Order: sequence, then C-alpha cells, then structure tokens
Amino acid sequence: MRFLSTRSRAETDLVDAVMQGLAPDGGLYVPDALPRFAPDEVRGETLAEIAAEVLAPFFAGSPLEGALPEICRDALDFPVPLKPLVGGKLAVLELFHGPTAAFKDVGARFLAAVMERALPIAGFDSARPVTILVATSGDTGGAVAAAFHGRRGIRIGVLFPKGQVSPRQQHQLTCWGGNVRAFEVDGSFDDCQAMVKAAFVDPSLKARHRLTAANSINLGRLLPQVAYHAAASLWHFRAHGDAAGFIVPTGNLGNGVASIWAKAMGMPIREVVLAVNANRTIPDFLATGDWQPRPSVRTLASAMDVGNPSNMERLRDLLPDLEDLRAAVEAYPVDDEQIEKQIAQDAERFGEVWCPHTATGFWVYDHLPAPRRSASWIVCATAHPAKFESIVEPIVGRAVDMPPALAELLERPTASIALEPTAAALAKALDEWPYRI
Ligand SMILES: *Cc1c(COP(=O)(O)O)cnc(C)c1O
Repeated sequence: MRFLSTRSRAETDLVDAVMQGLAPDGGLYVPDALPRFAPDEVRGETLAEIAAEVLAPFFAGSPLEGALPEICRDALDFPVPLKPLVGGKLAVLELFHGPTAAFKDVGARFLAAVMERALPIAGFDSARPVTILVATSGDTGGAVAAAFHGRRGIRIGVLFPKGQVSPRQQHQLTCWGGNVRAFEVDGSFDDCQAMVKAAFVDPSLKARHRLTAANSINLGRLLPQVAYHAAASLWHFRAHGDAAGFIVPTGNLGNGVASIWAKAMGMPIREVVLAVNANRTIPDFLATGDWQPRPSVRTLASAMDVGNPSNMERLRDLLPDLEDLRAAVEAYPVDDEQIEKQIAQDAERFGEVWCPHTATGFWVYDHLPAPRRSASWIVCATAHPAKFESIVEPIVGRAVDMPPALAELLERPTASIALEPTAAALAKALDEWPYRI
C-alpha cells in the first residue's frame, strides 16, 4: 500500500510514513485507499489476531509485511475487554490495561514495535540515535516514554504544559531517565504542539537530530487504534448479531478518526458519535461548516484539551464534503459540571468509576434521544480512573484502586527540564542533549 500526504498528495511507503511521522509538507499520511472487509471475512478472535488481519493490507508490499503478526503479538499483549453494562445493550471497551493505564499504550507500543524493526530497513545506524518528539496534554507522553524506554538507537523528548497535567500523569512523564527526557513547557498543550511542529519544519534541526514523531498523528499509532475498534465491533457482532454504535471520547481526533476508518473499512459499526469536552472546535464545525481552530481551554478531561485537532485533516481527507461528514459523524461537547455529575451518577448506577474523559462518552450516551439509546452502544473508556484520582475520588467519596503497573511507576524518582514556549528554546535543548545511548 502507498500513503499520501493530506496536503501535497506526495506518496511514500509504510516504513517511511512511520519513520517521518509528519509529511515534509506538514500534512498527515493517509492510505491511498482504505481496504474493505466483510465482517465474516475476519476470522481472528483476540485483538492481536484481528489486528494482524485487518492491518495486513496496510503492510502489503512493505518489508515489514511478514513481521506484522509478531508485531501485533508483541505490542497488543494486554487485555482490552469489552464489558457489558446493562442487559448487553450497553458495553464499555476498557482500553486502559496497558503499562500507563490509558488507551495510548496501544498505539505507543505498536509504534515502538514497528519502529524497532523499521530502523535498520530505513537505513539508520545505531551510532546516532533517532529523536522522537512528543507534545503531550497528559497521556501520550507517558505511554510513548514507557513504550520506547530503553530501546537502542531511539531517544525520546516529551513536551508537556506546566501545571496542566495531573500529578500522577506528570510522574509518568518524568520518571524514566536514560533515553527519555521530559521538558516542562511554560505554556499550553497547543504551544507544545506548535514547538514540535516548528522543529519538524526546520530542515537543519530535523536532520541534526533525525527527528520523528510519535503523536497521534503518526500512522503507526493510528493503525492499532483502528484494530481495537474493529475487534470490539466484531466481538459484539458475533455475540449479538447486530452492529453496535461507538461513542468515542476524543480531543486531537486520533481515537475518533480510528473509529471512523474502522467503519469505512466495513467493520460492523452502526455509527460513530464523538464526545468532546468544552473545547468545541469539532462540534462547532459540524454545526456551522466553519473550521475555527482556537486556543484550548482547560477542563477536567485534560487529555482532550485541544483547540486545533490535528487529525481533522485526515477526516476531511476521507470525507471532503460537509454533508458526507455530517452523515458519518456527530460530536457533542460536555462541560466540567456535566463530567462531575456523570462520574457520580455512574458510580451509583453501574458501580463503575470513570476517568473524566470516559465520563464525556457516558454523558453523550445518556443524552441521546431515547429511541436511539435503546440500540447497542459501545463506549470507549480511555483511561483508568486512578490516573485522575484527585478529580474522581472526591466525587465518588472513596479511593480507587491503582493498577499494579501504575503503582510501580509512581515509586520511581522524577526529573524534568523547564522550557520557554518557543521553537528556539526547544532547538537549544535538543542541541544541548548529549548523544549517550
Ligand atoms: C489522548 C486521550 C484522549 C483523546 O484522544 P484523541 O486521540 O485525541 O482522540 C482521551 N482520553 C484520554 C485518557 C487520553 O489520554
């Protein structure tokens, strides 16, 4: 398969698209055509098996083609359970059983498994490392750091907005050392993202440090997310005989695009509904047809605080016509007060504690018109509530148990480097980072 930039339509192959992250023209890579499956064509049962089948067309013709099943087994080695909630019609897809307890572990681990195998193919020698830059609003950086920590030939620079991630998130960003550096930026997530984008379009800096990206813009992160939407839809379809609707909490639109791609690939997904927080760029665009990116506002669902969702470029590439886009996807904003109420209500109703991001999805479910609510729905749970204990524990009035992997990380010492929110500050920090791998 060939991959095209959303901007110039310049073409490349899978290994190059993954190693570059962002296309040289600033666009995002998309497949030249999405493959299509009939639901009963896919035979696999586990996530790793289904991923190997539905992602095979993306790897076709690549030197990594034969390694795909092994990459899937390596990367997707933790449970991703689809848990029924009420009478089998409503289910939650728990995406938070990986090393850093959020769905981003899925994409980060897959990308790490792909890159490790792609480096020698792409002609990189291990004497000079590749540098991965990640702008994070909370979860991406920890997941990427965990997935790549200790891998030879790759170093990781994580940029996070000062004071805008939860204490436990911050710990997961700053506890690595070795080939991982955490940069605490005196600005917003959008500033962090702009700094990374600026670094990529500086040809000299890019070449000096062999920069590559691991954000949700990297195709290698998006593909396994397509796979879990596919797997969950197939599990539901096989058990109940109907196509479930998906409710997807989203911010930068990675998880949202993954769900929409899975549907476009013929997976049994009835419809896709996006839940966003008070950052309303996406629902406002669907309502007015006017794309108005804006500075992000802070919310309780901080990993979704994105005012200029990058992956919109991929969505508009798939569905350039506004009416087609409106027919394919809905999006609803959920504010902080509604998030808090939803967490309290569902702790009573289901005995389940949601993280603030997941709560936006359940709020959207509860506010669908009653006839629509009676259909089958799958809500994606994007993080474990223990990552946001300072928000959820006062609401539910009890402590939430911490997953053991997370508890282990939180024992490690931390370190970070303060940065001004400018491209120049990042360039200087990279140049001052000694190659010691
Ligand atoms: C990143 C993140 C989101 C939003 O993901 P997108 O890929 O931007 O859609 C939602 N919830 C959590 C917990 C996250 O970490």
